Amino acid sequence: MKSFEYAAPSTVEDALKLLGAPNAAALSGGTDLISRMKDYVSSPDRVVYLKEIKALAGIVGDAKSAGVTIGANTKLADIVAHQGIREAYPALYQATAEVGSPQIRNMATLGGNLLQRPRCWYFRSGNGLLALKDGRSLVRAGDNRFHAIFMTDGDALFVSPSSLAVALSALDAQATIAGTKGERTVKIEELYQVPKRESDSEFTIQPGEILTKVTVPPAKGKNASYEARHKQAQDWPLVLSSVNLTMDGDTVTAAKVVLYGVAPIPWRSAAAERAITGKRVTPENAATSGEAAVEAAAPLSMNAYKVALAKTVVKRALLSAVGNRYWEQA
Ligand SMILES: Cc1cc2nc3c(=O)[nH]c(=O)nc-3n(C[C@H](O)[C@H](O)[C@H](O)COP(=O)(O)OP(=O)(O)OC[C@H]3O[C@@H](n4cnc5c(N)ncnc54)[C@H](O)[C@@H]3O)c2cc1C
Repeated sequence: MKSFEYAAPSTVEDALKLLGAPNAAALSGGTDLISRMKDYVSSPDRVVYLKEIKALAGIVGDAKSAGVTIGANTKLADIVAHQGIREAYPALYQATAEVGSPQIRNMATLGGNLLQRPRCWYFRSGNGLLALKDGRSLVRAGDNRFHAIFMTDGDALFVSPSSLAVALSALDAQATIAGTKGERTVKIEELYQVPKRESDSEFTIQPGEILTKVTVPPAKGKNASYEARHKQAQDWPLVLSSVNLTMDGDTVTAAKVVLYGVAPIPWRSAAAERAITGKRVTPENAATSGEAAVEAAAPLSMNAYKVALAKTVVKRALLSAVGNRYWEQA
């Protein structure tokens, strides 16, 4: 690892000053940044540890009536342990409870989770986000089994790695970002963008800014997440879907369906949403919505299996939201 300056400020203001230096990086739980530094994928000159800023940790509010605010330093384990979140936002609880392992959830923070870098093995081997060599995509020509199935006509073929981003996006959550010019609030999905050039970031947050908190509005309808994984521990999902349904009795009047593992951003499926709106969430209607979710999929040479997974996770997330987990009885 390259040597670096280290600071551990106790206020956001001091952290912003320290992060204003060129090539500085924020450090939270370190479960992503430290491994990138060890592999020379990221080599900051200054590392600013945020976890001494006590004001950035904790969960406040009432999930059922007013919504909750979750500080960026809040550990994933504390999100999983929060009874109000578990009851009102099963989509967030389920997506968080499956992350990594207990050790990782005890170190990892909400802010670091949302801003972790892609797991694409070409990126992690130092080939850059777009992994272009002599203008040609190493991903397209190489081992792309864990890559995108949407937006594959572009050069950004990695998949956005945060499970929580997908759940929080479905729940219409907002992130607050602090910078030297003040604070701004963006929808969770607006934190992400598709890089067009190697110098572009996959985030809209600017160097030197700090994500301070996430606000989740009160849960009104029914929500859930469902994911498919290669194995049960120490891994990321292959594909995950989080759904949030507004209901009139048994009928869906509005739906938000978001997918993980299929695109370089959390992928919202308007087609899946249209397919379930105005309907009851039966296995047949949920399956139709799953089919709609993948209509526009364009898989790469090795990842067509994700199309089948995406259909299934959308169907099962919808059914989970209304309490029908029939496959567990099989
Ligand atoms: C084996 C394994 C399995 C995993 N499985 C999953 C999974 O299933 N789903 C999933 O979503 N993740 C998974 N992860 C990733 C894990 O959740 C992330 O590494 C973790 O959440 C990052 O949080 P952190 O606090 O450790 O971040 P750090 O490593 O400290 O930081 C990550 C990045 O975010 C930036 N950053 C951190 N906090 C802030 C802030 N407040 N403001 C601005 N920038 C900030 C840092 O500069 C850095 O670039 C897994 C990780 C491992 C090792």
